[in-house]
Formats: sequence, C-alpha cells, structure tokens
Amino acid sequence: MTGRKVKNTGQRKQYYINRSHPAIVSDEVFDRVQEEMIKRARVIRHEDGTASLSTNKYNGKYLLGNLLVCGDCGASYRRRTERGNVVWRCATRIEKGKEACSESPTVKEEWIKERLTSMVSGELYEENIIRERIGQICVYQKYLVVKGKNDIEWIIQI
Ligand SMILES: [Zn+2]
Repeated sequence: MTGRKVKNTGQRKQYYINRSHPAIVSDEVFDRVQEEMIKRARVIRHEDGTASLSTNKYNGKYLLGNLLVCGDCGASYRRRTERGNVVWRCATRIEKGKEACSESPTVKEEWIKERLTSMVSGELYEENIIRERIGQICVYQKYLVVKGKNDIEWIIQI
C-alpha cells in the first residue's frame, strides 16, 4: 500500500490510493481499501524478526507435492484420496507397485500439515510460511527429514 496523505485545506483528510490511480478518496474508502489489501496479503515473518506482506499468487499446484521426496527411491510424492483420507505416497510406488519402492510410507496430509504447522508457523497452517522456510522433506520408513532453507534440519518420527 503506497497511499500518501495529500494536502487538503478545510476538508477532511484525503489520500491518494497509488500513483496509477490518482483518485482522491475519503478516509472511509481508504480504510476499506487498505483493509481489503491486508486481507488479501499474508504476513510473512522473517528470521531476523521483521515481517512483510506477501500476496498469495500460488494456487493450482500443491506445495507438499514440491516438497515431499521419497527417501528410498528419490521420486516425488503424489497426493491421493483414499476412503475419504487425503494421503501422500511415493510416485514410484503408485506407478510400479510396492516391489519397486518397498520402504516408503504413506503419509496422511492432515498429519503432515499439523507437524509442519507446529514446527514453523504456530497454530495455523500457513502455506506461505512453510514455503518460505522449508526446502525439502525427505520421507523415510520411520521418519521424515525436513530440510529448512536456513540449514536447519528437523527429524519427525512417523
Ligand atoms: Zn519411493
């Protein structure tokens, strides 16, 4: 938000919304626009304690699909829905069967989201924060190795 106050004698305060929309708007409209922009943006907290707003333009693909890698065969993990549960499983195992990749476990999406949330973002699953902090998640038979972008690794037991 690059709204700036403009000089305005005798009336209520007025603001420019931004340079490409140089319309002068009232306090009320300014507040409403700002509120809307905050709603659309997400707060990203950085390691050094600062925070910035980031608009979430990421939809379509699943973040976990980019992060989860099979520790046994190196393939990526794929999302499946089985009996109403959303699970992630090694692509080799899905395509070529258990014989081709026998060690890789199936991971419940709800479970992994909970684990990641408690590790990096507190109470709510915030995909932007997970994306910012985590580079890769290797899935082994009994545990996950979560590789943070700042060289931290977490080991999570399955
Ligand atoms: Zn595998």
